[in-house]
Amino acid sequence: MSHVALRPSERGFTPREHGGFGGHVCGGRVGGAPQSPPQRIAGCAMSELVRARGLCKGYGAGERRVEVLRGLNLSVEHGEMLAIVGPSGVGKSTLLHLIGLLDRPDAGELRIFDADVSALSVEERASWRNRRLGFVFQFHALLPEFSLEENVAMPLLIAGRPRKTAFAAARELVAAVGLAHRREHFPDELSGGEQQRGAVARALVAEPELLLADEPTGNLDAANADALFSLLQELHLSRSLTSVIVTHHEALASRCGRTVRLTGAAVEEVCSKT
Ligand code: ADP
Ligand code: MG
Repeated sequence: MSHVALRPSERGFTPREHGGFGGHVCGGRVGGAPQSPPQRIAGCAMSELVRARGLCKGYGAGERRVEVLRGLNLSVEHGEMLAIVGPSGVGKSTLLHLIGLLDRPDAGELRIFDADVSALSVEERASWRNRRLGFVFQFHALLPEFSLEENVAMPLLIAGRPRKTAFAAARELVAAVGLAHRREHFPDELSGGEQQRGAVARALVAEPELLLADEPTGNLDAANADALFSLLQELHLSRSLTSVIVTHHEALASRCGRTVRLTGAAVEEVCSKT
């Protein structure tokens, strides 16, 4: 699945603009794994940034109906860098889109930032996508008619921030991903690795708390994938992010704090360094 249908009214910005959301890997609790200490507010452990219980999501109707997530449990803790691995088609993107408020579950509980997402208004969902969540996809989705710096400033301009503030923040992020010398270049003038760095900058410019990355290195060669992952790790730490990264690269996943494998109905703990 590469595209999630979203009602226009739900969009914080256009689909092409969501190419950059913001993230880090290996941490989180899935399946029936034991939970963190039972210090709770309104049903959500304080350390949990994401809590999914019995999450169900399918597509289509009748004979064409496909049940993808079938009662999934997953917790992602504050500050964790969690890698999600699993075979193609198992529902990794589906899960990320639910957590990223790009789609809605059919059933089950989903809490993010200690709030039941089913209680959020359309405006709140759009605002959270724009300000609290950062997304990076496999394909950078930078807008071709805008420079790198303009692309990175876009989420702040959409949020109504003054141009001066938006461009100052964009310039800082572009430098933070090592592309200061490319800031006036257009996406088609950048290499694949540079385009993904730009997408990371755009994802983080609004200072999100949670970074979601869906196979961010899937389109890169090994050296560029390694470099991008290092950048995600560095930004995860320096910007105090919670990150959830879907990846096919087991070697990269192993650099995260925790790795879980998605099977559709369950999440299996693969490794945890904590
Ligand atoms: P993954 O990211 O693990 O490869 P996805 O979440 O993209 O898997 O897709 C899981 C399953 O759901 C696949 O069988 C896919 O074909 C199906 N699917 C995804 N999105 C849609 C959709 N919008 N309509 C119908 N089926 C979909
Ligand atoms: Mg996918």
